[in-house]
Amino acid sequence: MSGLRDPIRLPVVATDAGERLASYPPAELWDDWTDWDPKEWPRKIARRYTLVPTVCFNCESACGLLAWVDRETLEVRKFEGNPAHPGSRGRNCAKGPATLNQVNDPDRILYPMKRAGRRGEGRWTRTTWKEALEDIGGRIRRAFQEGRRDEVMYHVGRPGHDGLMEWVLPAWGIDGHNSHTNICSAGARAGYAFWMGFDRPSPDYSDARVILLISSHLETGHYFNPHAQRILEGKMSGAKLIVWDTRLSNTASMADTWISPWPGSEAAILLAIARHLLTTGRYDREFVRKWVNWEETLRRERPADPITFEQFERYLQERYARYTFEFAARESGVEEAVLRTIAEDVAGCGGRLAAHVWRSAAAGNLGGWQVARCLWLVNVLTGSVGRPGGTSANAWDKWVPRPPHLAPHVERWNGLAWPEEYPLSHFEMSFLLPHFLKEGRGKLDVYFTRVYNPAWTNPDGFSWLEVLRDESKIGLHVALTPTWNETAWWADYVLPMGHGSERHDVMSQETHAGQWIAFRQPVRRAAMERLGHRVRRTWEANPGQVWEETEFWIDLSWSIDPDGALGIRKYFESPYRPGEPITVDDYYGWMFENSVPGLPEAAAKENLTPLAYMRKYGAFEVRSGAEAEFDRLLPEEELAAARFDQITGVLYSSAPAGTPKNIVPVPAPASGPLGRAIGVMVDGRARSGFRTPSRRLEIYSATLADFGWPELALPEYVESHVHPGKIDRAAGEFVLLSTYRLPTLIHTRSGNAKWLLEISHANPTWIHTEDARRLGVGSGDLVRVETEIGYFVDRVWVTEGIRPGIIACSHHLGRWRTADADGVSRLASARVELSDNEGAWRLRQAGGVGPYASRDPDTSRIWWTEAGVHQNLTFPVQPDPVSGSHCWHQKVRVGRARAEDRYGDISVDTHKSSEAFRQWLAMTRPPSGEWRRPYWMLRPMRPAASAYRRPTTSR
Ligand code: SF4
Repeated sequence: MSGLRDPIRLPVVATDAGERLASYPPAELWDDWTDWDPKEWPRKIARRYTLVPTVCFNCESACGLLAWVDRETLEVRKFEGNPAHPGSRGRNCAKGPATLNQVNDPDRILYPMKRAGRRGEGRWTRTTWKEALEDIGGRIRRAFQEGRRDEVMYHVGRPGHDGLMEWVLPAWGIDGHNSHTNICSAGARAGYAFWMGFDRPSPDYSDARVILLISSHLETGHYFNPHAQRILEGKMSGAKLIVWDTRLSNTASMADTWISPWPGSEAAILLAIARHLLTTGRYDREFVRKWVNWEETLRRERPADPITFEQFERYLQERYARYTFEFAARESGVEEAVLRTIAEDVAGCGGRLAAHVWRSAAAGNLGGWQVARCLWLVNVLTGSVGRPGGTSANAWDKWVPRPPHLAPHVERWNGLAWPEEYPLSHFEMSFLLPHFLKEGRGKLDVYFTRVYNPAWTNPDGFSWLEVLRDESKIGLHVALTPTWNETAWWADYVLPMGHGSERHDVMSQETHAGQWIAFRQPVRRAAMERLGHRVRRTWEANPGQVWEETEFWIDLSWSIDPDGALGIRKYFESPYRPGEPITVDDYYGWMFENSVPGLPEAAAKENLTPLAYMRKYGAFEVRSGAEAEFDRLLPEEELAAARFDQITGVLYSSAPAGTPKNIVPVPAPASGPLGRAIGVMVDGRARSGFRTPSRRLEIYSATLADFGWPELALPEYVESHVHPGKIDRAAGEFVLLSTYRLPTLIHTRSGNAKWLLEISHANPTWIHTEDARRLGVGSGDLVRVETEIGYFVDRVWVTEGIRPGIIACSHHLGRWRTADADGVSRLASARVELSDNEGAWRLRQAGGVGPYASRDPDTSRIWWTEAGVHQNLTFPVQPDPVSGSHCWHQKVRVGRARAEDRYGDISVDTHKSSEAFRQWLAMTRPPSGEWRRPYWMLRPMRPAASAYRRPTTSR
C-alpha cells in the first residue's frame, strides 16, 4: 500500500527488556498520515488523516491529545495521546479519548439559544451570534455608562485556559471575576499560601523516596494522568507510597501503607510526625535555619526570649509537645504503631518527600486548610522543598505567557465576591452568592456562567435556583457551555462553546519537575486551514455554530465599545494592525513570539514561526527538571536599586521617599505603595526567596495573627465540624464523605460521553458492614440520609472499604432534567418532578435512564437504568471562617428508607439553608483596621492597591 508507513516507536517507558510500550506516528508525517481503517477489518482499507494536536479539556491536567481528522470528510475519527506533550507524554485517562463522544453527542447544543418563555420553563428559540453579541454587549455598555460596573459578573467553573480572563475583565474595568475555587481547592491553597505565597504544591514523584498522598491523587485527583504515571514511576524506582484516605480508593489499593483516619484528624497525625522529627533531631536543620522565619516567630510569639535558632528549636518542641502518637491515634482511630512506622518512613526520606493534599481533607473539614499547612511543615522539616524528589511551588513548574495588551489593575472592589467577613478567603466566596443576593448586598445585571453548573455542582442548589429565576436579582443570565446543564436551563441565553478539540487556549500545569506550555486548538479548523480552506471564525469549522471563547470575548468587547469611547476597545486591537480587531492568530502568535523563553529559537530551527510550531506540535517544553527558584541569587542590577529592611532582611525594589528603612508595614505588601518585595538576605547573600511578606517560609504567619487568628498563626490542629466528639453514633449519626471523584467522570461535561457513562452511572452510598448490620440494610437497599437542611434517598453498598461510622457517596452523579427530551443529556439524567412550596423543595425522579432514538445508534442500546442521586442539593453552605472553603463533609443521620421514599428523592427547606448560612457566617472575624485583605495574598484579577483600603465609614 503506497504511503502506508510503519509508526515509529517513541521512548516513553522502557521495560526491563528495554522494549518500548507505546508507539505514535512520527510528527513530521502528521500532516498526511495513512492508516488502515479498523472498522473495515479484516479488509485492508486505507484512510488518509491529518493529525492535529490539541489539549484535553476534561479536567485541569491539560494532557495532550492528537485528533485523527479524516482528510476527505474532515470528520474527527478518534483522539489519541500527543507524544510531544511533556506533561502527559502521549498518555491519557479514559476521559481524553471520550472527547470524541462529546463532539458527536446527539444531545449537544449546536446553535445560540435565547429564552422564549419564563426562566426555567424550557422554551427556547434559536438566535444568531450577531444578535446575541449586540444584545449582551449593549446591556453591558449601558451598565458601564451608568456606573454599574459591579453588576457585571463572570463566574467560571473549569477555566481551561491561562490568562484569558486576566486579559478581558481588567480591560472592561470590572472586578467581576468569580470562580468555583471555594467549593474545590481553596482549603489546600490557603494552607500552602500562608506558608510560601504560592498556593499549590508541585511534587516530583518520579524521583521521590517517599510519596505521601492525602486523598486519591493517583487514581482520580489533582493532575490525574500526569501525576499517576509519575507516582507509579517513583514506586517502580523504589519509592514508598503512603496513602491516607478514609475510603479504600483505587489509589489506596496501590499503596505500600494505607490508613483510614477519621475525617479531619489528618493534621493531628501530621503534627505527630513533625514532633517525631523534632524530638529525634531528624530534620534538615540547615534548611530550616536558612529559610524559615524563625526570628519573626520568636519576636511575635516569645518577645522575651533570646532570638537564637536554638531557642526557636526549643520553642517548636514545646509548641508541638501535645501531639504525641498516642494523641494522634486517639483522634484518627489509626493504631499508634502504624503512625510511628509512617513517621519513620518520612524521617528517612532524605529530602525526597513528594507530598500532596488537594480537596479531600482540606476541602472537607472546618479548619481543613491547616491540613495543608501541617503537611507543608513536614515537607519543610525534611528539607524536601524545591529539590529533585521533593515538592516545589507550582509557579516554579508552570509558565504563563502574557497577552499583547494588558490593562492596569482596576480600582474597584466587588463585595459580592469578596465580602468583608472573609479577608483571608482563598478566593471568591462564590458559593455564598445566592445568600448575598437574597440579603440585598447587590444585584447582577449581566451574569455569565461559563463551563459552570452551580445549581448542580455547588452545595445548596435550590438556593441557586431561587435567585436564578428572580429577574430582580439577576437581570440577564448568559450560560456559556458546551452542553446543557441544570443551571443553563435557568438562563436567558445559552451560548454553545466548544469542547477541548473545538477552541483555542494556552495552558501550563505543574505536572512534574519542569515547565511546559500547551496549545489547545480547534482541530477541524486547523485541519481545514492545513488543507487550504479559509476560516474566518472558529464557529464556521465547528459542528453547528459552536464557537470558542477567545473569539467570543474579542467580538463582545468590540460590541460593548464599538467606537473606543469607553477605553475598552484598544485592548482588543491587533498588535500588528492597529485599529483592527485582534484575531486568534494575533493573540496567540504574539504571545508565542514574545513571552515564551526558547520557543522562537526552537521554531526557527525548523523554519517555522512560533505559532506554526505550536500548531504543529501542540506543546513546548520550557525547562526540564526541578528548580529551587527561591534560592536564586538576585542580579546586581536589581540589587543596585533595592531598599533593605534591616530587621527582616527583606529587599524592596523601591519605595516612596520618606518611608522608614526598617519598617515592615502591616499588612506587609508583596507589592504596593511601599515597594515591591524582591528578595531577602540569607547568610549575607541576596536571594529571591518566597512570595511572603518575610520572603521566607512562614511557619508563623503575621498575616493570620493580624487578621484576627493569632491562635492559628502556626500550623495547628483544628477540630473539624465532624470531629468524633460531635457525632452521636448511637443515635444514628454518621459522617458523610461527599467529595470523592470517580476516575471516569467529570462534574458536568461527562454527562455527554457515552463510553464514560457506560462505565460509571450510579453513586451508591458506601456503608461499613457493621453499620449496615446495625441498620438492617444490605447492598441495594434504600436509606434516607438526613442533612441539616433536608434529605436524599439512595441505595447502599455494603463494604469493608470504609471506616465504621462513616458513609461515602460520589458527587459525580445524580444529573436531572425537567423536560422529557431536552436539557441535560438523556444518557446521564433522570427526568424529575420539581416542586417548590415557599422554600420547601421536592425533587422526585419520574423516570431513569433508558434507550432512545437519536442520530447515534448507540443511544438505542443503553442498558443502564439509573442516573444516580443528587446529594449536593441537600448540603447547607459551610464556609470555613478563615479560608472561605466550603467544608464538604456532612454530619448526617442515616435510617432505612420510609414507605413513601423513592430512589433519588430529594427534600430541602431553603429557610434552613439561610439559617445555616447565618450560623457559619457568625464564626468569621471581619477586619477592624485599614485593609480589606492583605495585599500580598493571591487574588485573581488583583485590583489596584488603593482598592484594598476599607472605606472609612466601615472602620
Ligand atoms: S487526566 Fe484525563 S481528563 Fe484530565 S486532561 Fe488528562 S486525559 Fe484529560
